[in-house]
Amino acid sequence: MDGVNVEQEELLCSVHTPTASSSAKTAFEKIQSDRKTLPVYPYREELLRAINDHQILVIVGETGSGKTTQIPQYLHEAGYTSRGKIACTQPRRVAAMSVAARVSQEMGVKLGHEVGYSIRFEDCTSEKTILKYMTDGMLLREFLGEPDLASYSVVMVDEAHERTLSTDILFGLVKDIARFRPDLKLLISSATLDAEKFSDYFDSAPIFKIPGRRFPVEIHYTKAPEADYLDAAIVTALQIHVTQPPGDGDILIFLTGQEEIETAKEILKHRTSELGTKIAELIICPIYANLPTELQSKIFEPTPEGARKVILATNIAETSLTIDGIKYVIDPGFVKMKSYNPRTGMESLLVTPISKASANQRAGRSGRTGPGKCFRLYTAYNYYNDLDDNTVPEIQRTNLANVVLSLKSLGINDLLNFDFMDPPPSEALLKALELLYALSALNKHGELTKVGRRMAEFPLDPMLSKMIVASEKYQCSDEAISIAAMLSIGNSIFYRPKDKQVHADNAHLNFHMGNVGDHMALLKVYNSWKDTNFSTQWCYENYIQVRSMKRARDIRDQLEGLLERVEIEITTNPNDLDAIKKAITSGFFPHSAKLQKNGSYRTVKHPQTAHIHPSSGLAQVLPRWVVYHGLVLTTKEYMHQVTQLKPEWLVEIAPHYYHLKDVEDLASNKMPRGDGRSAKINNVVKDGSVSFQDGNEV
Ligand code: ADP
Ligand code: MG
Repeated sequence: MDGVNVEQEELLCSVHTPTASSSAKTAFEKIQSDRKTLPVYPYREELLRAINDHQILVIVGETGSGKTTQIPQYLHEAGYTSRGKIACTQPRRVAAMSVAARVSQEMGVKLGHEVGYSIRFEDCTSEKTILKYMTDGMLLREFLGEPDLASYSVVMVDEAHERTLSTDILFGLVKDIARFRPDLKLLISSATLDAEKFSDYFDSAPIFKIPGRRFPVEIHYTKAPEADYLDAAIVTALQIHVTQPPGDGDILIFLTGQEEIETAKEILKHRTSELGTKIAELIICPIYANLPTELQSKIFEPTPEGARKVILATNIAETSLTIDGIKYVIDPGFVKMKSYNPRTGMESLLVTPISKASANQRAGRSGRTGPGKCFRLYTAYNYYNDLDDNTVPEIQRTNLANVVLSLKSLGINDLLNFDFMDPPPSEALLKALELLYALSALNKHGELTKVGRRMAEFPLDPMLSKMIVASEKYQCSDEAISIAAMLSIGNSIFYRPKDKQVHADNAHLNFHMGNVGDHMALLKVYNSWKDTNFSTQWCYENYIQVRSMKRARDIRDQLEGLLERVEIEITTNPNDLDAIKKAITSGFFPHSAKLQKNGSYRTVKHPQTAHIHPSSGLAQVLPRWVVYHGLVLTTKEYMHQVTQLKPEWLVEIAPHYYHLKDVEDLASNKMPRGDGRSAKINNVVKDGSVSFQDGNEV
């Protein structure tokens, strides 16, 4: 984001404040006058007084009112930073980076100096940093090193309404330290109006409301459900673009993820080029978490005269980022959401209908700078009858192993009595304890072991941390951290351009030679790249994403530092494939599966049917026994990142978890069914265009 330069900033400001056009103000002065137009500004003094008078304050204000960018600056201007840093937490890393970049511009300082951000594996702060934007997960990790957060004078838990797992845990921790640190100020800020719940939880803390500017938004529903919401969204966007005067406002489309956004981008490009010069220019801006930073700032660039911007965003644009100039919102009504089945221990990432609260937030994005329109690609009936009122907090639909390990290492042993705003299902807590016990992170009394203490040092999933800690025994810690770093990148290593898929696939085949499995293939990619002295050319030739590799290298460097901290020597054992696979198995043994006669797999514990994902190097090989990194339910239950294993390793490595009978024949014809949550409200075939009912104003 430091790519947003001053020139762009000038343009941005002229969009915000049309009155401050060609006067002789410098860019910096314009930013300052711009700050004064935000809804929070008239309440600056009142807000500072309230913060002075109360230790804990709940702050509520519409998205775009200036909570995130302004309040930390007000506190700094009022002198709070002379007593310690100000932390402002964000549920999303893109938001933390983007907001920090913006605030550093507003303050006229270099990003990373007085204003910085900290996200997992990336610390853009320095000794000088006084305003620290960070993901909620990072503040949680800071508790491990500084349990009373002594270096902070203010903690602002921002976007509290998102109720991410880390935010919910932070609530409990900050509430606790506030009791013995009367000098610490706690701000809980939220974009939604049901702040009473936060107030109740924080011992009736007062609620400070920032009255928002809100223009009327016309809501349109489709007459019938849409079978293909992506197509419907694209058609709707083009309809708006073609029929509405150019320059009257931009379009924001909410999609569920990177792949969908990239697909939509291609289709939109194609269709607009077919329409040629008959239509005004349509600038397509994607925004999602993995989008390279330099491209992210594009959404904030002002739309040139006569053109229109269409922003293809994930849920990040719902409340985390404020984009000015949106007049039309297209809401297909879906979000990609994690869910967790504590019975089987399976996590899944499913495209699910959003809640009413979400739908209303999305609609609100169109009415920030003038009257707006929201096109809901579902029926009014769906909205009123099928959508839940609120999104279930993440803590109630996720695997808790990571958080339980962190809490245990903070010395919080009695988890059942932890002060949760909404407690997780006790089954999920038990499952987490069970897993950590299986991984030897906890002993049978539920206390942290030495292994557990070491594992907690790594900001990774406990199974990955365990793999690293166990690699000491197999003398392959070097390989283990490379694999962990590569796995942490997600699935953006192998590049497969649409017009060169065959070339790319051939290049990638090299890494899978000998059917070594996906973990070893990732290791081979990393080591081959390292052998070329990290050559960019090599990446191009092998259809490997350079950017992902650089990130993997950064992560690997950090993991190497952490190895040193837990006193595990760096040892390499490149020729002993079994040793490396045993280290992997030491972390991932709970994820083992056995081939069935019909080519599907059956997980060994908590039996469930699964398939090797087609992108895996082993998809055609179908080894008899495998361990997998993750299981994702999309069209089927798919295992991602799969490695072959010898069944006797399970008993050798985890005798407390597997018995001989588990690894002998498990044949049983009963195929357990998935739990049938393939949630779609759009299941009726559609014809060619999208028709909406008359708008209802809200
Ligand atoms: P809130 O936290 O209340 O939703 P913010 O403080 O994030 O509001 O945003 C206030 C205003 O700052 C926005 O309306 C927008 O005009 C501006 N802004 C925020 N982030 C950026 C950015 N990255 N680039 C340009 N302008 C921004
Ligand atoms: Mg905000």
